[in-house]
Amino acid sequence: MHVMTATRTGRVMFVGAGPGAWDLLTIRAAECLRAADVIVHDSLVPRQLLDSIGGSARRIPVSRAEAAGGDPGANTGHLLVQLAEAGLQVVRLKGGDPTVFARLAEEIQPLRDAGIPVEFVPGVTAALAAAAAAGVPLTSRTSASSLTIITGHPADEKAAGIDFQTLAAIPGTLAVYMGVEQVERWSKALIAAGKPGDTPVTTVSRCSWPDQRIAASTLAACGSDFASQGWQSPAIVIVGEAAQAVAAAGPLSGRRVLVTRPAGQGDDLAALVRAAGGECLAVPVIRVEDPPSWEPLDEAIRAAATFDWIVFASVNGVRGFARRLRGLGLDARSLGTARLAAIGTATQTALEAAGFACDLTPATFRSEGLAAAFADVPAGGRFLLVRADKGRDVLRNELVARGHHVREVAAYTSRPDDAVDADTLAAIDRTGIDWVTVTSSSIAEAAVAVFGPRMERWRIASISPVTSGALARLGLRPTVEAAQATAEGLVAAMAEWEAAR
Ligand code: SAH
Repeated sequence: MHVMTATRTGRVMFVGAGPGAWDLLTIRAAECLRAADVIVHDSLVPRQLLDSIGGSARRIPVSRAEAAGGDPGANTGHLLVQLAEAGLQVVRLKGGDPTVFARLAEEIQPLRDAGIPVEFVPGVTAALAAAAAAGVPLTSRTSASSLTIITGHPADEKAAGIDFQTLAAIPGTLAVYMGVEQVERWSKALIAAGKPGDTPVTTVSRCSWPDQRIAASTLAACGSDFASQGWQSPAIVIVGEAAQAVAAAGPLSGRRVLVTRPAGQGDDLAALVRAAGGECLAVPVIRVEDPPSWEPLDEAIRAAATFDWIVFASVNGVRGFARRLRGLGLDARSLGTARLAAIGTATQTALEAAGFACDLTPATFRSEGLAAAFADVPAGGRFLLVRADKGRDVLRNELVARGHHVREVAAYTSRPDDAVDADTLAAIDRTGIDWVTVTSSSIAEAAVAVFGPRMERWRIASISPVTSGALARLGLRPTVEAAQATAEGLVAAMAEWEAAR
């Protein structure tokens, strides 16, 4: 007979994080991150991306491992060996794809030497994310039959032995990584080697980050353009006929729109802004967190069947409720005959995604609308309101005024996000903002705290009268207010205003 030892062996997954935005992570990457014991990440991977995953892994920014001096790749490799040998599931999270300009060979060698299993999860590499952001093809049947990825960094180029003569002769698109600092050198070398100076150049800096910028230039002009326009690293430079950027069409074309919802909630809004031709900058100003205590919610969940109506005021309320219900070992059966209401369509969708049917969504999406929707319920109804730990009491007050019994429980709390740092603000100031979207009262307050007097200069799109009221109390007047309190309504209001200009 054979006795297995109980020692758990660790392993290391090299995972691509994509260019930066949390929603450009693959589903498999997200699963690996959630399952990890420790995440060793490039310091450039945004915190929002790591936060959006949840999970309880320890995080180690890799610059710390590199501080020891010597070969940074090998140093990180040795750190990975140590962690895996301690029996941990290690994720080595790299920007973009882990196999593209990522010192992979150096990091892997120590792991191979130590016999530690290694796996890979691909990510969206910067060239692909940049092409998508700029809306340009990288290949074309008529003008680009190849895509060549090169580094514009001279130290790397020496090792790679870039031959500009050959490069200039390939009839295809060039994606230049790390190319901003040395743009004069490689662009001139390409022209000297015979590449036409009027070859279109599309540059995307900080792709998918809040301060993403896209610009069109030519091979001959890009050097001076980069200098005069103060281009920032990291940036990808795409060179080729196929990759000629055209301004996005649509009612918000040329407009830069600040989306202030937390990651995982602004996604629908961001997509709609982009679909309308706008450039979307995601800068969450609040963070959603657990309430100070779960006890009131847990108690209410155990007593769920005693309510006539359970009313959800937000997507976060649904998520918190569903999480605690499962955590208590319960499921939808314990709600008995209680009926469920959602304050709006997004909340309804969240309810359905969590496996519940929604019995009621009011015609107008705000607290007042919800109260009116219960006008037919005879006095004495028993209501449970699932909401944030702070917020407005409109619904509760109206229900109480109608003679109902109301219990309120907190399923989450939100607080201003302190991650909006000076760098982000400086980048916003540099590139300018046309619209800021304000999608709740707490976001209104947090936005004023974070952006200060900038809010007076930007056009403000408010999602509802309630939010406009919060803005008014802060001394701000929204430029537009959504007719329907949905992401669609908000984008439509901005589009209408722009069209009427
Ligand atoms: N493994 C990464 C590349 C790392 S090398 C990938 O697959 O994308 C670093 C270079 O990648 C930068 O100099 C820049 O050229 C490019 N890059 C990385 N992230 C970027 C981003 N968000 N926007 C534009 N370029 C980016």
